[in-house]
Amino acid sequence: MFSPRTKLKTATEFDFPYQPYNIQQQLMEALFDVLEHKKIGIFESPTGTGKSLTLTCAALRWLESHENLVRQDLLARITEIENSIQRLNEESNKSVDWISIQYEGAQQRKELCELRKLGELLQKEEERLQEMRERHTLLRKNSKHLKQTHSSSLSTFDEAKSADVLDEDEVLLDDIIQDDEEVQEQESNDFPSVQIYFCSRTHSQLSQVVREIKKTAYGKRIRCVSLASRQQLCINPQVRKLTNVALMNERCTDMTKNSDKINTVSNAKMQKLSGTKGCSFKRVQMLHQLSDAALVDITDIEDLVNEGKSTHLCPYYAARAAAKDAQIIMLPYQMLLHHRTRVQSGINLRGAVVIIDEAHNLLDTISQLYSCEISLQQLTILQQQMTGYKMKFVKRFNTSNLLRINQLIFVVKRLIKLIKPNGDGTNSNRRTLRTYDVTSEGEFFNINLKELVQFCENNRLAQKLQGFAQRQNQEPQPSENKPPVKNSAALDILKKLQQEHAERQSKSQKRQNKTKEEDLKDNVVNDSNKPRIPVSVSTLRPFLSFIDSLTESADDGRVFIDYDANAKSGTLKYLLLNPGNHFETIINEARAIVIAGGTMQPTTELTEQLFNKCPTRVQQYFYDHVVSSDAVLPFVVANGPTGRQLCFNFTQRGNQDMMTELGMILQNICNVVPAGVVCFLPSYEYLDEVYAHFERNKVLASISQKKCIFREPRGTAAVGHTVEQLLVDYSNAIKEKHGALLFSVVGGKLSEGLNFADDLGRGVIVVGMPYPNRHSPELQERMKYLDITLKPGAGNEYYENLCMKAVNQCIGRSVRHIRDYACVYLLDERYSSERIQKKLPHWISRCLQTPSKFGLVQAATAKFFKTKSS
Ligand code: SF4
Repeated sequence: MFSPRTKLKTATEFDFPYQPYNIQQQLMEALFDVLEHKKIGIFESPTGTGKSLTLTCAALRWLESHENLVRQDLLARITEIENSIQRLNEESNKSVDWISIQYEGAQQRKELCELRKLGELLQKEEERLQEMRERHTLLRKNSKHLKQTHSSSLSTFDEAKSADVLDEDEVLLDDIIQDDEEVQEQESNDFPSVQIYFCSRTHSQLSQVVREIKKTAYGKRIRCVSLASRQQLCINPQVRKLTNVALMNERCTDMTKNSDKINTVSNAKMQKLSGTKGCSFKRVQMLHQLSDAALVDITDIEDLVNEGKSTHLCPYYAARAAAKDAQIIMLPYQMLLHHRTRVQSGINLRGAVVIIDEAHNLLDTISQLYSCEISLQQLTILQQQMTGYKMKFVKRFNTSNLLRINQLIFVVKRLIKLIKPNGDGTNSNRRTLRTYDVTSEGEFFNINLKELVQFCENNRLAQKLQGFAQRQNQEPQPSENKPPVKNSAALDILKKLQQEHAERQSKSQKRQNKTKEEDLKDNVVNDSNKPRIPVSVSTLRPFLSFIDSLTESADDGRVFIDYDANAKSGTLKYLLLNPGNHFETIINEARAIVIAGGTMQPTTELTEQLFNKCPTRVQQYFYDHVVSSDAVLPFVVANGPTGRQLCFNFTQRGNQDMMTELGMILQNICNVVPAGVVCFLPSYEYLDEVYAHFERNKVLASISQKKCIFREPRGTAAVGHTVEQLLVDYSNAIKEKHGALLFSVVGGKLSEGLNFADDLGRGVIVVGMPYPNRHSPELQERMKYLDITLKPGAGNEYYENLCMKAVNQCIGRSVRHIRDYACVYLLDERYSSERIQKKLPHWISRCLQTPSKFGLVQAATAKFFKTKSS
C-alpha cells in the first residue's frame, strides 16, 4: 500500500446533497480525520440525523482526496528521485567518496524502480477503468439488442436440468481435492487502491444507503457494488430451490465447474453441455458486461438481480468480479465479520476502510456468528447416514478417506454419549463444559478436529452425504440382507428433524428481525415468485461447525449440554464468549475502522472487549439529535395515578394492582397524546397477561373510545395478521379515525429498524426494564467470563447494558427527523437512578423529567402537544 508523505487537511466540503446541519458537518469532519489518521472511530448519531449519508459522503470525500494525493505524491516522488539520481551521478564523477554516493544511488534506483512500477500500475488501472466506462456506455446504447440476443440464444439454458439427486459417483469421495476456487488467494497485479467496505445489518438498509449515494454528486463518479450471498444473488432456478445457503454454495460451485467447460467450447457443444449440470448464467466471457453495469450505474442487490435476469448473466459472480474495482463495497454484517465467509467471498481488508453501520449490537452479532448448536436428533441421523455411507462405499474408499470417515463416525458417537451419558437416556443432563472437557470426556482429544473439518470441506462431504441420503430415500427400502441404511424410524426422525429445522429457522429469522418491515421487503427482493421446495436438512454442516468451535481457545467459549430425559431431546451448544479475538484480524488489516450507530452508549463494552489492545487508536464521538431539545419530552414515571410506586420487575409486574395502575396510566396518556401511541412491554407473556387483565377490567373498552387498539402478533404471522398488515392498519386508524394504540414487545418485531415517525409515534411508552433472564446458563457464563477477564462487576454491567440497549432501541423508534416531535414515558421507578439515566441517549437524558406525581406528567404532556399544534 503506497503511503503519501503528507497528511490531508481536514475537509470542510463534502458534496453533501443539501446544506448539512451542524452535527452532520462535525461528524463528516471527524470521520475524515479518523480515516486519514488510521484511527478507530466510534460514532453515535441518533436515528433521523442522516447518519448513513453523512458517513458515506465523508468517507467518499476522503477517498477521492486520498486517491488524488497518492497520484500526486507518487509522480512527485518519481520526479524527485530521478533528479536526485542524476545529481548523484554528477557528484559521483567528481567526488572521492564515490562508493557511498554510488551506494546511495543504488538505493534510490531501487526505490525508483518500485515507484515506477506502481506508477505504471496506476496508469494502467486508470486506463482500464476509463475503457470500462466507455465500453459500458456503448453497450447501454445497444442494450435492447443485447437483451434480445441473450434471451434468444439462451432460451434452451432456461430449461437446463440440474439433478437434485446426485449420481452415485458424485456422492463418492474423491481423493482429497483442493480445488475450491473461492479460497484461493489470487496474486494481484493491480495498483493497491484503498477500498471502503460499508456494512450494515440488512440488505434493505444497504439498498437505502445505495439509493442515497445515487442522489449525491458521488453517484455519477464513484464505483460502488453490493455484495451478497448466493441466496440473494443466484438466478438459477434449480439452485434457488435449495433454500439452504451452504447447499446453494456447494451446488453452484459444482455446477460452475461445468460452466467453465461450457465457456471454453463451441456454441454447438455449449447447448449439449447445458443439458448437463453446468450453470448457463456463468459465462466468463460476457460476465464483465454485468460487472461493468454494477460498477458504473451503482446498483443495489435488487437492480443487480433484475439486470442479471434480463441479460442472463450471473449477478453473484458479476458482483464478485466488480468488487475488485469498486471504491465502495456494500455488504451485510456476516460477510464482513465472519472470517471464513470473508475469505470465501474474496474480501481483502488489507489497507481498507471498514465502516460498520447500525453497530449497536456488534459484540452480540460477532458472538452469534461464531456460536453454534447441534441437536441429539441431528447427531443420531448423522450417525446413521455416515454408517450407511461407509457401508455402501467401503470398498471404493482409499485408506486415508476410510480413516477420516471412521474418525467422523467415532466423534459423532462420542458426542451422542456425552449428551446421554448413561446410554439409555433415562437421566437428564445439564452441564457447562470447556472445549477441552468435551474432547477429553468424549475421548477424541487425539483426533485433529481442524484436519477433519478441512477434509470434509475439501471433499464437499456435506453435499455428498446429503446426495447419498436423498438417493437412499428414493430407492426402495433395503431388503433384509442389505445394511439398514434408512429404516422407517430414521425416516421419521428425518421428517421430524426437517420440521424442527423449519421451525428453528423461522424462530431464528424472527430473532434476526426477519419479520420487520424492511426485511419483509428483503424477502420480496430476494425471492423469485416461484415456490421453493424443501430439501433434506444437512446434518453434517452443524456437526462440522460444532467440532470446529471445539478448536477455539478454551477460555474463549463454553459448551452447554442440555438433555431432557422426558422429552428425549438434547442439544450441544457452543457459545463464543470472547468476540475480540475474531475481530482482531479486522483491526490488524484495516487502515481505519468506523463503528457507528444511533445508540452506541455504553461504549465501554466495545473499548474493553474489542479494542483493548489498541486503545490509542480509538476515538469516540457523540452527537446530539438534529431536533431541538423542545421536540422531545421524556418522563420517568415512578408513580401511577393512585400514587402507587411503579416497579415492573419479574416478581411485581403480575400483581393485579400493578396492572390496574398500568391500565389507568394508559387511559390517561391516550387522553392527552394525539395520533399514534406505541407501548412496549417486556415480553410476549406479559403482554398476554396485561391484555387479558385489561379486557376483563374494561380498560381496553375505555381506551378504544379514544384510540383503536392493535397488538403485535406473536409467532410467525400469528392469527393471520402479518406485521406488515398490522402496520398498515395501525397507520390507517391514525389517519382515518381518532388515533391508535399499538401494544408491542421490547426486542420483538417492532422494536428495531421500524420508523414510527410523526403521527405514527407521538407517544412511546416503555413498561418496566426489560432485563433478560438472569438464570439462563449462557448469560451466567458470559457474566462470569466478563467478571474474570475485565473486572469484578463487569458481568452485571453487561446485564444492565443488555436491558438499556433494548430500551434505547424502543425510544429510537420515534422522533425520526428534524420536524418530528414526541413524548417518551419510562414507566418504572428504577429509571430514576442516575446510573440508569446515564445509559439513555443524550438527546433523551438532556431533557428528562421525573415528576413527583403522575398528574404532573399528564399536565406537561397536554401542554407539550398544545404548543406543537398551535
Ligand atoms: S453461477 Fe450464479 S446463477 Fe449459476 S448457480 Fe452459481 S450463483 Fe447461481
